[in-house]
Amino acid sequence: MTGAFAAQETRNTWKSVLETFHEDRETPLNSDYWSEKDTWSRDRIRDVQDEKIAAVAPFLYENSAFYRARFDRLGVAPTDIHSVDSMLANWPVVTKQEMMADVTEHPPYGTYSTCGQQEWDDRGWMLFSSSGTTGVPRPFRYTHFDRKYWEQANARALYSGGLRRGDAALPMVGFGPHVFAWGVQYALAKMGLPVIPGGGMDGRARAGLIQRFEPRVLICTPSYALYLARTMQDMGMDPAATSVRWIVQGGEPFSGVKGTLERIQDLWDATAVEFYGCTEASPHCGGYSCPEYQSGEKPFIHLMEDIQVWETVDADTLAPTADGVSGISVCTNLNSESAAQLRFLVGDYTTLSYEPCACGRRHVRAIGCMTGRSDDLINIRGIKFFPVQIEEAVRAVPGTGDEFQIRLTKTDAGLDTMKVVVEHADPAIGRIVYDEIHARCEVRADVEVVAAGTLPKSEMKAKRVFDERGTA
Ligand SMILES: [Zn+2]
Repeated sequence: MTGAFAAQETRNTWKSVLETFHEDRETPLNSDYWSEKDTWSRDRIRDVQDEKIAAVAPFLYENSAFYRARFDRLGVAPTDIHSVDSMLANWPVVTKQEMMADVTEHPPYGTYSTCGQQEWDDRGWMLFSSSGTTGVPRPFRYTHFDRKYWEQANARALYSGGLRRGDAALPMVGFGPHVFAWGVQYALAKMGLPVIPGGGMDGRARAGLIQRFEPRVLICTPSYALYLARTMQDMGMDPAATSVRWIVQGGEPFSGVKGTLERIQDLWDATAVEFYGCTEASPHCGGYSCPEYQSGEKPFIHLMEDIQVWETVDADTLAPTADGVSGISVCTNLNSESAAQLRFLVGDYTTLSYEPCACGRRHVRAIGCMTGRSDDLINIRGIKFFPVQIEEAVRAVPGTGDEFQIRLTKTDAGLDTMKVVVEHADPAIGRIVYDEIHARCEVRADVEVVAAGTLPKSEMKAKRVFDERGTA
């Protein structure tokens, strides 16, 4: 097999494997599960992963110049990767930096995608793109073939989170090139849940929509759930007394941030629903809630393993971490014609557990959820921590406002310093915040206390870290 023939042949094989496992559900399997895949055994999950990997490796080799070059450079043949174990043994993780270099060299799409111009012209669906916050944005073109798989995965995730027939949803998200809002939208359509559009208006107008039309589901970032609740309180309304029962959240870590999850749920008297993924390797939902996700010591999310392989690796060595040991997340996407990926380094810290869950799902759990992307790690004089650890410290002090800022600067002597700005009615609270930060991060921060409502409110994705140290 060579050239175009091999490309088409391996594509057909890959798509037929995907079709074998595809369900086009519009109603749930039963009252607990959207699909029988939710309760597959560990052995069944692994067998399906192996079967998909055996088909996807030749497909990537023949249809992506990025992958072909990597196989050849590593001296690995596509047939060497035919199972989870052989993939882990033979295929080093793929980094964002590699994709950025590829898209810089081959604009505008790079060569990591398996959706070429012909597929895009024939059955193109949508273009999504990773954000540019960590460098060059990575665009991905998807086909309508992908859409079918996308909406099923997301419907499973939202059903597991608790959404049911009649739960009308109010999305308050920018329908930009990011995957979150679109992914939820297509799942809602598949599940037959009504949607009340909430785009292009301010918080007061949205508060009015909630009062008038009584949605049961809000779809937004965690920052926005806080912001809107405060807006309603300013208008003399009580968010906890509204029709809202579920808040589907994405775009920022939150379930693993102690204090933030409780604050949102208390304000709204509603249950938060996780919807976690990344544009590059988990464009549909990877991590999702189940009825038990807040029942343990730490909240957790399941990761959808029949369509993806999830693992964690050591942040420094990139070697796989043992079960129960924290590491950064890696995702192999086995559910797409356009963006199948082998071992993409997503980079969120978590700890995986393969223990059975009381909900009946055997899919692996990320204990403590995802608590910060390795790109966001703050390094102050060699002490490393995440913005979410500062957030937990701030939330631990009663009476602090929803907003806070982390300001990083350099002294004239070249020393890194950190100032944390919090809102509180009592200026003397600074010492307690200092202690909470020191206890969690072992770093000494200057704490500035400002009056409540002083800091700008985050309407969408919160910007709370201001690094003014320059490039050292
Ligand atoms: Zn569960």
